Amino acid sequence: MVAAVPFLNLKLGAASQREELLNAAERVIDAGWFVLGKEVAAFESEFASYCLAPHCVGVGNGLDALSLSLRGLGVGAGDEVIVPANTYIATWLAVSHVGGTPVPVEPSPETYNIDPTRIEEAITERTRVILPVHLYGQPADLDPIKHIATQHGLHVLEDGAQAHGARYRGSPIGANGSLVAWSFYPGKNLGALGDAGGVTTHDADLANNIAILRNYGSSIKYHNDVIGFNSRLDELQAAILCVKLQHLDGQNDRRREIASAYLKAFEDSNIVGPTVPDWADPVWHLFVIRHHDRDRLANQLRAEGIATMIHYPVPPHLQPAYKDAGLKPGSFPISEKLHREVLSLPMDPSMSDFDVERVIAATLRCA
Ligand SMILES: *Cc1c(COP(=O)(O)O)cnc(C)c1O
Repeated sequence: MVAAVPFLNLKLGAASQREELLNAAERVIDAGWFVLGKEVAAFESEFASYCLAPHCVGVGNGLDALSLSLRGLGVGAGDEVIVPANTYIATWLAVSHVGGTPVPVEPSPETYNIDPTRIEEAITERTRVILPVHLYGQPADLDPIKHIATQHGLHVLEDGAQAHGARYRGSPIGANGSLVAWSFYPGKNLGALGDAGGVTTHDADLANNIAILRNYGSSIKYHNDVIGFNSRLDELQAAILCVKLQHLDGQNDRRREIASAYLKAFEDSNIVGPTVPDWADPVWHLFVIRHHDRDRLANQLRAEGIATMIHYPVPPHLQPAYKDAGLKPGSFPISEKLHREVLSLPMDPSMSDFDVERVIAATLRCA
């Protein structure tokens, strides 16, 4: 009996970088400086260059990266923010945390990402920001989104939590004058050994505001300009992230290889794979297929030793957390159908070719 194929083997991934990670941890221990020091500054500068963005501010996690960005843009009570109906709930929570209202817009079922042709009808006089998510590592269609934002005087904040290294029309997410919130949660393409997040921006004032907000509203110790938060990237995670960043492109390339093997194998089957527009270079945070009998397929794959996951089983508007918004089942039918049909196959840069072939064979057999 061969071992089961895990969904994502973080232990194997960390073991392959063991020496470098230990060296980074040792450097921090020996320096004896643990919060907001050289390591955070180094990671901020390296990640900013990686994204072709002039500024990066490290924060505690991806949710804070989103909510501090919204605060930095001045979004507050009574303001509306356009969000995808189909996303991880953190995108919505950030809007709610600053007192705003998330206004959902349906995705395109082919790319799973927010459908730009549906954004304008959701804009009201209270809309302040459009918040696209590069879901599953596939860039959202930024040009029409930016065009609508300019026409209506809105900001664009991108949720890049699943898209480190992805490219839109040849430019990395984070380039092109944009404001992007990042998560470095362990399971993301660029993941720390714990919680971590960051914001990249082309606006020096905004970067400075977010840097003040993350640190008690203070730029000079014990002098507080605004009512801030404690959401700092720590030295240890920053040092770890500098190591992980060195490996990101190689690991994204391996994800691309696995994704093209999957796409090729499922071409003439009843498995619907993701559509990749010609302007998109995704980094395959997840490989999400659709199937009309999803739960049966997942169960059969489990019986064959193939782990799968569902991203996500319940859309944000149908979560108890958002029951007060009064968005009934059926109000976002495209998202709801996706949530019934999507299934994420194993996607892990440390997967062997043998395991990729096993996933393909089992999926074709069970579908
Ligand atoms: C992971 C994730 C977040 C939240 O990041 P955390 O670091 O877990 O707070 C936000 N948005 C999306 C799309 C995510 O996948």
